[in-house]
Amino acid sequence: MGMDSDTLFFAAGICATALALTMLSVWLQNRMDRFLIGWFIGMVLLGCGVVIYSTIPFEFTAVTASGFALQTAGFIAVYAAAKLFVGKRMNWPATAALFVCLSVPVSGLIVMGFEGIGIALYNLIAAGLIVLTARLYWNARREAPTSITGVTALYLLTALSFMACAAVLVLDGKWSLDHRPDNWAENLNAIMAIAGITGIGALSLGLNQSRVARRHRIEARTDPLTGTLNRRALLDSLKMDHLQPGDAVIVFDLDNFKSINDQYGHHAGDRILCQFAHELRSILRRGDLAARMGGEEFVVVIRQASVPSSIAIAERVRSAFAANQIQTDQGPVPATASAGIAIMLPSDDGFESVFRRADSALYRAKNNGRNRVVTELQVVA
Ligand code: GH3
Ligand code: MG
Ligand code: MG
Repeated sequence: MGMDSDTLFFAAGICATALALTMLSVWLQNRMDRFLIGWFIGMVLLGCGVVIYSTIPFEFTAVTASGFALQTAGFIAVYAAAKLFVGKRMNWPATAALFVCLSVPVSGLIVMGFEGIGIALYNLIAAGLIVLTARLYWNARREAPTSITGVTALYLLTALSFMACAAVLVLDGKWSLDHRPDNWAENLNAIMAIAGITGIGALSLGLNQSRVARRHRIEARTDPLTGTLNRRALLDSLKMDHLQPGDAVIVFDLDNFKSINDQYGHHAGDRILCQFAHELRSILRRGDLAARMGGEEFVVVIRQASVPSSIAIAERVRSAFAANQIQTDQGPVPATASAGIAIMLPSDDGFESVFRRADSALYRAKNNGRNRVVTELQVVA
């Protein structure tokens, strides 16, 4: 194959540009994923830098130097994208300072005629930035072990190919060059760049897609106002892990909520719903299920709970909610809740029948004056 490294680098530049456009179009569909913009910028800079380097005559040293500066900026942007991807903050002034510190010596050496040292230094800088990027992914591998191991391996192989370029230049010992370095390491580096850009690009998009899918799954299970599970999530959980005899179902319903909305406004009503969900979260333990079934009704499932312990839990939620009134412009809102409790019996055929009994207990709590907990057997508070 008569492929020289200029052609390979040009191909790598085109690959980077194509991937940049892909990243941009994915970002346009979901603008929350800011790391895609980092990738887009990184790939555009790398693509332009590589195309400039591989097409403009080498003796135009200022242009060659700017090609390397663009590539350095590209690697910094890819590093920034990885930081955003793993949920870290970017320090933009420090990033800009890093760019200046890294690109000025390389450009200076190339423009002053020390192309050999300048390019070797650039290769080491690129390798260093790629290793730092790989480390960020590796530390986040729990999210998707296989894909992230693949991404890390591709980054490290690419970094190794940059180190090989630096090593060949240093071993050659030529401080000045009158043409682009063209040796086995440069060819390997260009091939690794093509493989790395396409492989890492595809894996990163895959990682992002699975993140988006996970986010949608969580959104589909969560009540957007209160953050608790919604009815569908509760029923799905109970399909996976059926209600067993001895499990308790507690139905809570906020008292006179319609008149609270009428008197204090819908916004205050929403805040009260959130406050109630907060009390549930602070009192329930891991393994308990709590869901907003709709409106101002919540259901709690407690596994293997005795009647007294489920009464105690419902009572703690009720009294904490009654005690922690929210403040509005019209003063504190005296909101309360009632609860009905039922325990699954061996004769019950599933959640629905236990839920109906808990609901009738709740009905009795309402009829007996509200702000109280009632079981299917007795009135408690
Ligand atoms: P009771 O004590 O008998 O339960 O009386 P209630 O007024 O709480 O019951 P009712 O079923 O008559 O009214 C429920 C109210 O809950 C009506 C509805 O406007 C309000 N509501 C339902 N969902 C929301 C919500 O998301 N936000 C707010 N602010 N209000 C809601
Ligand atoms: Mg109500
Ligand atoms: Mg209701």
